Amino acid sequence: MRLKAKKIESRYGKFLVCPRCGRVFKDSKAYTKHVNKSHRHLFKGE
Ligand SMILES: [Zn+2]
Repeated sequence: MRLKAKKIESRYGKFLVCPRCGRVFKDSKAYTKHVNKSHRHLFKGE
Protein backbone atom coordinates (compact mmCIF):
# COMPACT_ATOMS: atom_id res chain seq x y z
CA MET A 1 0.00 0.00 0.00
CA ARG A 2 1.25 3.40 -0.94
CA LEU A 3 0.39 6.67 0.65
CA LYS A 4 0.28 9.23 -2.07
CA ALA A 5 0.21 12.85 -1.17
CA LYS A 6 -2.51 15.05 -2.51
CA LYS A 7 -1.05 18.04 -4.25
CA ILE A 8 -2.60 21.43 -3.89
CA GLU A 9 -1.64 24.73 -5.34
CA SER A 10 -2.23 28.03 -3.71
CA ARG A 11 -0.99 31.52 -4.17
CA TYR A 12 1.68 30.71 -1.62
CA GLY A 13 3.04 27.88 -3.68
CA LYS A 14 2.58 24.16 -4.03
CA PHE A 15 1.85 21.99 -1.04
CA LEU A 16 1.45 18.34 -0.25
CA VAL A 17 -1.46 17.13 1.82
CA CYS A 18 -1.41 13.89 3.72
CA PRO A 19 -4.54 11.92 2.74
CA ARG A 20 -4.59 10.13 6.09
CA CYS A 21 -4.64 13.05 8.48
CA GLY A 22 -4.91 16.16 6.34
CA ARG A 23 -1.65 17.69 7.37
CA VAL A 24 -0.04 20.07 4.94
CA PHE A 25 3.62 20.04 3.97
CA LYS A 26 5.72 22.42 1.96
CA ASP A 27 7.98 19.84 0.38
CA SER A 28 7.99 16.15 -0.35
CA LYS A 29 10.89 15.60 2.01
CA ALA A 30 8.86 16.75 4.99
CA TYR A 31 5.88 14.76 3.79
CA THR A 32 7.88 11.56 3.45
CA LYS A 33 9.31 12.09 6.91
CA HIS A 34 5.83 12.51 8.32
CA VAL A 35 4.50 9.39 6.62
CA ASN A 36 7.40 7.31 7.86
CA LYS A 37 6.93 8.61 11.36
CA SER A 38 3.16 8.66 11.70
CA HIS A 39 1.81 6.17 9.19
CA ARG A 40 4.59 3.63 8.95
CA HIS A 41 2.27 0.87 10.15
CA LEU A 42 0.34 1.22 6.89
CA PHE A 43 3.27 -0.15 4.97
CA LYS A 44 3.47 -3.41 6.87
CA GLY A 45 3.18 -6.30 4.51
CA GLU A 46 3.82 -4.28 1.42
ZN1 LIG B 1 -0.53 11.98 7.92
